[in-house]
Amino acid sequence: MSAGYDVDLAVVGSGGAAMAAAITARQAGHTVVLIERGVLGGTCVNIGCVPSKTLLAAAGARHSALTNPFDGAPTSAGGVDLRALVHQKDELVERMRSTKYAHVAAAHGFEVVPGHARFLDRDTLAVDGKPLRAQAYVVATGAAPAVPELAGLDSVDWLTSTTAMELEQVPRSLVVIGGGYVGLEQAQLLARLGARVSLVGRVAPGPSRSWPNPCVRSLPRTASVSSRSTPSPSRSTEARSSYGPPRVLPSAQNGC
Ligand SMILES: Cc1cc2nc3c(=O)[nH]c(=O)nc-3n(C[C@H](O)[C@H](O)[C@H](O)COP(=O)(O)OP(=O)(O)OC[C@H]3O[C@@H](n4cnc5c(N)ncnc54)[C@H](O)[C@@H]3O)c2cc1C
Repeated sequence: MSAGYDVDLAVVGSGGAAMAAAITARQAGHTVVLIERGVLGGTCVNIGCVPSKTLLAAAGARHSALTNPFDGAPTSAGGVDLRALVHQKDELVERMRSTKYAHVAAAHGFEVVPGHARFLDRDTLAVDGKPLRAQAYVVATGAAPAVPELAGLDSVDWLTSTTAMELEQVPRSLVVIGGGYVGLEQAQLLARLGARVSLVGRVAPGPSRSWPNPCVRSLPRTASVSSRSTPSPSRSTEARSSYGPPRVLPSAQNGC
């Protein structure tokens, strides 16, 4: 470490980018500290890749049971216990946060300091007001969902992908705004869990030729297949839920 510095490298954030930078610097023999103002691990493990893929897998299992074409090997699906699914997802997230982030940081010999980082000047960072001088800095602070300018949105109890994955009941219907991968994932998983889903937005990676207007699309096939809830083995039972009112889901993707 050079004289006058607390550490060789300070990384703001503790997501995938921050971890990659920290590990690389440690492998080159430098001292490193990470600063995290929220939950260790950033977006991917806490509110992104891991929770969404877990819930998608659960929704996919239900969908496969409901759409099984083999009469000789019947399957059925009961009602969805979203609270239990979300609890199971939270347990996985906690486990992975520990094994893939906390343990990895310890194994590579760098500390994750909790606190909000901001620069006091071009050379000095403050962590919750306490100065920290590093020879080099990496800012890996990620992104946040963009809320579109949509008339009336402020009067609606809308969700983001983060809060949608905390729901404890499947909504009867849902409008997803944003057809990027985050919007499509949320639309698919909630449709397959039984919600009637409409998707509004450009569909990633680009509008299909069979969808001439790229701005307003719904998921009629997915929704009509998946919005059936099957308390009995019958696959034709329509949903009879009494879930809350529809909400609007903003996404981090560009709108139309
Ligand atoms: C629903 C969803 C599903 C996704 N699925 C996938 C997928 O399947 N595959 C894939 O590759 N990507 C996926 N992504 C994207 C992926 O999660 C992100 O691209 C990735 O996590 C970004 O990593 P990062 O390290 O740049 O930032 P982040 O992981 O967002 O980390 C930034 C961290 O910086 C911290 N921070 C911010 N400001 C400060 C400050 N001033 N002081 C201290 N700390 C601060 C934040 O608290 C945060 O923890 C998904 C995203 C979402 C939302």
